[in-house]
Amino acid sequence: MIKFVDTGSPSVIGSFGEREILYAFHDIDGTHSLIRDWPPVMSIVLHYVSENGVPDGYDSDEQVKKLVDLAGTEPLPETDSFCIESAGLSALTQMEWAIRRAIDKGHITVPCDKEQNRRKIEMIRKGEEIFEDPDTAEMTAFLTVHTPRLFKFYEKVLNGFCRDKNLEIAKKDPDRFIVSGSKEFLSMLYEKGVKNYFVTGAVVEKGMGMHEEVETLGFEIGSGKIVEDLIGSTWTDKIPKDQIMEKLLRTLGADGKNVLVVGDGRSEISAGVKMGALCVSRLEKTDTFRRNLHKTLGSNIVVESYLEEDFQALMK
Ligand SMILES: [Mg+2]
Repeated sequence: MIKFVDTGSPSVIGSFGEREILYAFHDIDGTHSLIRDWPPVMSIVLHYVSENGVPDGYDSDEQVKKLVDLAGTEPLPETDSFCIESAGLSALTQMEWAIRRAIDKGHITVPCDKEQNRRKIEMIRKGEEIFEDPDTAEMTAFLTVHTPRLFKFYEKVLNGFCRDKNLEIAKKDPDRFIVSGSKEFLSMLYEKGVKNYFVTGAVVEKGMGMHEEVETLGFEIGSGKIVEDLIGSTWTDKIPKDQIMEKLLRTLGADGKNVLVVGDGRSEISAGVKMGALCVSRLEKTDTFRRNLHKTLGSNIVVESYLEEDFQALMK
């Protein structure tokens, strides 16, 4: 167990008194690992879909290459800001947003309620993933086919743009892709008896993808190891992070107040706030937009590096 005490220091953005922490749920990308430089990739893929729809061969190898070359080359105001706001949402929801935008702009024709579609675009932007009012059968069928297909397309562009080469470099020099102080922080929690869990929106298959990345960075995963388990998403089911985290909380039989949630995305922080956890936002000092957003969401602590003295002083 580790105790966090609110000292009122500048890293505290939402008061929390005193907390006894037994479990820690950590996001991976941007929170501990820098292997996936995903925002420019997500932005170009969503931009491409919202402007072109999903024509035949939209996810061909040739298109993958085209988008790998285009990623990060020019500002894309709408999708760039969407990526910042939607960080942590299920990738399937992010793909769905682009399809809905393409429908709204007339680049995809599917029988649906246009007004309802517009509302859902706004709701996704606000961080919602599950909707009560159903889509038409045609719309549901269209999303069921194309969101997983686009998710795979996005991963291919991501692999080509940064993931594969960064992983190769990380195999020789892992520290280049680890957030400052991340390893020390996780080890310290582990030594104090806190059980660490990685929770990601990426698909987790042993020895591949995110699993391989985390192990390359030197985090051992397994029962009794520094990271107890790595819990991820699937290619086909939209599972919001709050549901993944609530399920984990129930499985552990834990109380939210004894949980620490560490992340850089809106969805894990919102989920943490909802379950009454102590929330730590890992955000660059220059990232004023997201620092303000996370404060509004109800996060408790903000850090850029886990080594910051201010942050260290909160732990007893
Ligand atoms: Mg993240």
